[in-house]
Amino acid sequence: MSSRPRAHIHLSSIAANWQAIDRLNPTATTAAVVKADGYGLGAAKVSRTLARAGCSTFFVAHFEEGTALRQALGFGPRIFVLNGPTGSHLRTYREADLTPVLSSEEQVELWARAPRGACALHFDTGMNRLGLSSSVLTHRRNELHKLQPVLIMSHLACGDLPDHALNRVQLDRFTEIASAFPDTPASLAASSGCYLGKAYAFDLTRPGIALYGGSTPPETVRLEPTVTLEARILSVFSARAGESVGYAATHTLEQNTTLATVALGYADGIPRSGGNTLIGYLDGTPCPVLGRISMDLITIDVSKAQAEAKSGARVEFLGPHAKLEEQAARAGTLGYELLTGLSNRVERVYP
Ligand SMILES: *Cc1c(COP(=O)(O)O)cnc(C)c1O
Repeated sequence: MSSRPRAHIHLSSIAANWQAIDRLNPTATTAAVVKADGYGLGAAKVSRTLARAGCSTFFVAHFEEGTALRQALGFGPRIFVLNGPTGSHLRTYREADLTPVLSSEEQVELWARAPRGACALHFDTGMNRLGLSSSVLTHRRNELHKLQPVLIMSHLACGDLPDHALNRVQLDRFTEIASAFPDTPASLAASSGCYLGKAYAFDLTRPGIALYGGSTPPETVRLEPTVTLEARILSVFSARAGESVGYAATHTLEQNTTLATVALGYADGIPRSGGNTLIGYLDGTPCPVLGRISMDLITIDVSKAQAEAKSGARVEFLGPHAKLEEQAARAGTLGYELLTGLSNRVERVYP
């Protein structure tokens, strides 16, 4: 029996989450963002699952992620590459039928000179991260139209803050930009944008984290957990009141306590900021992490789960009890970082 931590990936739940988002905005096409190896869950398997569920548009960040995804999916589905083209990749873009997202004037010029295929245009509407300035529309309008883009897009800075004034500002700016391309589909919403209402959906939505069970949806949207992360108990022992636990003795026991140490640590992607704050679940019973997270080990208080606490038993650190965003919040981070941070020492197990 291996003591390596395991991540069970629930592909059918990823498909169910995609369908839940798709139902939210029935008039828009629902794409799937599978960058960073499908947020750590395996881009090829996730994408094949979603393609079977009816998804035909995918987004990755890097060219190399695009070529790998094309191999996994075969020809047919559209694959957008968010970070856009560089000169050395132009031929492969065509061979692999990848669609670059052009976000700078340099990329526009590069693509205009290339033996080009389809492209998307990404405008910055207020995030000041990546995207063409709307002024490019004024002075290079014809050039942009000549590219015959298949998608006009932008990205919200505050989609997860529904009341933030910037959402409305970006919506208005994007509506104006999209109106310059009346025959081209438009896309503004990532996962959180899908919860902001019909006005934000346009023709295509680009959910990522929601597919994997993250984000903070409204009560009417139920997302399923898509990964169960389990660690094995290596040792169960008792320690006395007044003793401390772990490196730097950051936790002192107030009473005699039964402890268990599990084979999981920051080398597996568990943030060190989760020391003294994360919770492991043993048969559904919460067992708080005591002391610091080590590279390969975490110690938990199993006083409330004495019967189940045996070496070899599995402790859930993500899953139906250890909910992704709640666990992430305990460590002061987000579901995004927790999922994409799971290292390759964690064995991925598929149904
Ligand atoms: C990552 C990304 C997405 C997906 O974002 P989520 O918040 O994970 O849904 C969509 N659009 C762009 C431009 C992105 O970079």
